[in-house]
Amino acid sequence: MSGKLIFEARPPMTVAIANSEARYPVNRVFCVGRNYLAHASEMGVTVDKATQEPFYFMKDPSNVIASGSTVAYPPMSSNYHYEMEFVVAIGKAGFEVAEADADELIYGYACGLDMTRRDLQLKAREAGRPWDLGKNFEKSAVISPIVTRESVGTINEGAIELRVDGATKQSSDLNLLIWNVREIIAHLSKFYHLEPGDLIYTGTPEGVGPVVAGEKIEGSIANVGTIELTIA
Ligand code: MN
Repeated sequence: MSGKLIFEARPPMTVAIANSEARYPVNRVFCVGRNYLAHASEMGVTVDKATQEPFYFMKDPSNVIASGSTVAYPPMSSNYHYEMEFVVAIGKAGFEVAEADADELIYGYACGLDMTRRDLQLKAREAGRPWDLGKNFEKSAVISPIVTRESVGTINEGAIELRVDGATKQSSDLNLLIWNVREIIAHLSKFYHLEPGDLIYTGTPEGVGPVVAGEKIEGSIANVGTIELTIA
């Protein structure tokens, strides 16, 4: 490639790795929609795994922000929601990956918050329009340090919880995912060539709700870690 860049390129977004000085550079951010029955139900939709396939939306890597951050209430919304999610960090390339081979692509795991402008998402949904304004906005993809699969083993179950100012709002288990991690990797890799740096937010359990200025969100996933976000 030749030619001088006309302005400085943004450096890659990177995520901390637990117990390591090294960092994980983010390539893409995939998010699974409606992957817990009880959450689909609270959103007024039903999911039948026998007749439906998982679906996805994406967030720009530039919208990733570290756990422990303080963020401003986002513009153009009056219904800013938390969604606590189990995040899978891909570490190896794969296309049309068989479920039996899916674990090999996983570098590690993290806690994530799929922060959502719910009013804008629902308005788009009702109009049959893309969800970007509701989902893909600045600082909307919060992530904890990544724990490596090498250190914690393959995770397919365990408690996932979220509290706002100490009050429990979400409490479920990863084993209630409608499409589990292996199924998601197999399905998603039919549509995309998965690459190291791809993050997959696997969906939120029930109990989503609003936060307002001054509140603090704390989440945890067994064997993965904790995540925090403060609304300024
Ligand atoms: Mn979500």
